Amino acid sequence: MQLMRNAIVVGGGLAGISAALALQDSGKWNIKLFEAGKTLGGRVSSITDNETGLKLDNCQHACFRIYDHFLQLINRCNAQNSIKFQQKTVLSFTDPNSGITGTLYDSNLKPPNQMLKSILKFPHLTFKDKLKMRKVVKKLSKMTEEERINLDDISFETWLKENGQTQNSIDVFWGFFVLAALNLSVKEASTAQAAFLFRKGLFGNPDAFDVGAFAEDLSYIFENQISKTLVESGIKIYNSTKINSLIWNGEKYTGVKTSTEEFSADLIILATPHNITKKMLKDGPEPTKVIYENLSKMDFNSLIGIHGLYNKKITKNDFHFTALINEPIIQIVFNRNFELNEEVSPDIKQWLSIPVSYADPYIKYSKQDLEEEYKKVIGKMWPEHEKYLSKIVIVKTPNATFSTKTESTKLRPSAEEIIPGLILSGDYINNNWPSTMEGAVTSGLMAAATALNMDSWKNDELWNDWPKPPKRGDQNWNKL
Ligand SMILES: Cc1cc2nc3c(=O)[nH]c(=O)nc-3n(C[C@H](O)[C@H](O)[C@H](O)COP(=O)(O)OP(=O)(O)OC[C@H]3O[C@@H](n4cnc5c(N)ncnc54)[C@H](O)[C@@H]3O)c2cc1C
Repeated sequence: MQLMRNAIVVGGGLAGISAALALQDSGKWNIKLFEAGKTLGGRVSSITDNETGLKLDNCQHACFRIYDHFLQLINRCNAQNSIKFQQKTVLSFTDPNSGITGTLYDSNLKPPNQMLKSILKFPHLTFKDKLKMRKVVKKLSKMTEEERINLDDISFETWLKENGQTQNSIDVFWGFFVLAALNLSVKEASTAQAAFLFRKGLFGNPDAFDVGAFAEDLSYIFENQISKTLVESGIKIYNSTKINSLIWNGEKYTGVKTSTEEFSADLIILATPHNITKKMLKDGPEPTKVIYENLSKMDFNSLIGIHGLYNKKITKNDFHFTALINEPIIQIVFNRNFELNEEVSPDIKQWLSIPVSYADPYIKYSKQDLEEEYKKVIGKMWPEHEKYLSKIVIVKTPNATFSTKTESTKLRPSAEEIIPGLILSGDYINNNWPSTMEGAVTSGLMAAATALNMDSWKNDELWNDWPKPPKRGDQNWNKL
């Protein structure tokens, strides 16, 4: 009989959850999972608005069909009902000043041309913009991985301009996707990172950019299906248990310390955000020094979630979301009405949510300034809205995503066992993904693969022990 080994996972965000579950599922490891917060989920979290009783997320979280590992985790935890998926990529863009809406959608043309038909009809780009965009689409899809990585120190805006892109296409198209997916301005984003996004997403598989939206508040899925699955698999979860330091015996890491107790294990997986990992590795043994220095150079970018709650419905039933052209703060409006619950909040008939990506320039704005901006822009879309507005809730997250600015790729550590007894995990681990739920789950699986000595597994392959991600038309998944 094979001997089970013991591992401690520090951090119950998506990275820690995935590492823990994949290892426990292997039957070779017994896992203890330590989480500082009261519940699992980490940066995917909600707050309760005491007045309405509604649970509002820290900011709208969206996933995409290209999130293979995240969707495998959702399937493994039987949480399919918590997410609704588009069955065709449809991305709407409205100019709030003119009211003109254009839509990007996929067709049966082969990648990278699946969006071509809709781009040709797209009203917010000129003929010249579109003509010039063709060159960059071609260049991005032909680029080798080596060429892509070598573009880490060039800002995406500079690269786009060098490749003949117009300012309008940068503002309306390229810049929008970079802002929403990398949580960064196109001026600062690393071209290597932006190129990954477009190659994998918009110009990758035809269904890659189908949008998935959570059907419940964000904490629900973690407090219910995910926690239940972890416990049933045999993982011991220690919530509200902060790890203060790692134990090093001179040859290997052997355990962790809370303020009152010590726990030992054969392996530690440190799945905390990069700033906490950096603190844990301070004064660590030699091989951790380079990682410590690199993590010290990594930044965060901010996000703000704005929730508008109304006592009367103001949008049409079939309105899901639209991006707003050339609006720096109110960039996208989501309709969250399908999450409203008559029993919890009978007086709220409309819930709009706005994710403010790359909110660094606005993070210090007062509540009042942000509310005024919301009222002004939403007023262009629905002129009567203020009559029915019950309240606006604003949630600011300054340390939301690690920054994928130029020269950031080389700072990201690998998920290899850098020194005996310790493996790093977290969305910031070098796996090509920007700071996303998919990046976090992938990093968890990379840590598990290292612990399981799965040398031949590549991080763009599915995780064999878990059910496959859903395809379009999968009856077990709800439609958006
Ligand atoms: C507001 C917001 C909106 C976002 N929107 C999207 C989106 O739409 N789509 C998308 O894909 N991604 C989005 N993201 C990014 C995504 O949420 C993160 O990339 C991902 O959840 C990170 O997971 P993680 O496990 O690496 O880190 P975390 O979620 O940060 O998990 C780390 C965990 O470690 C715990 N911890 C820290 N220190 C200790 C300690 N000393 N002891 C024990 N536990 C500790 C923390 O409490 C936390 O639970 C968003 C993030 C934010 C903040």
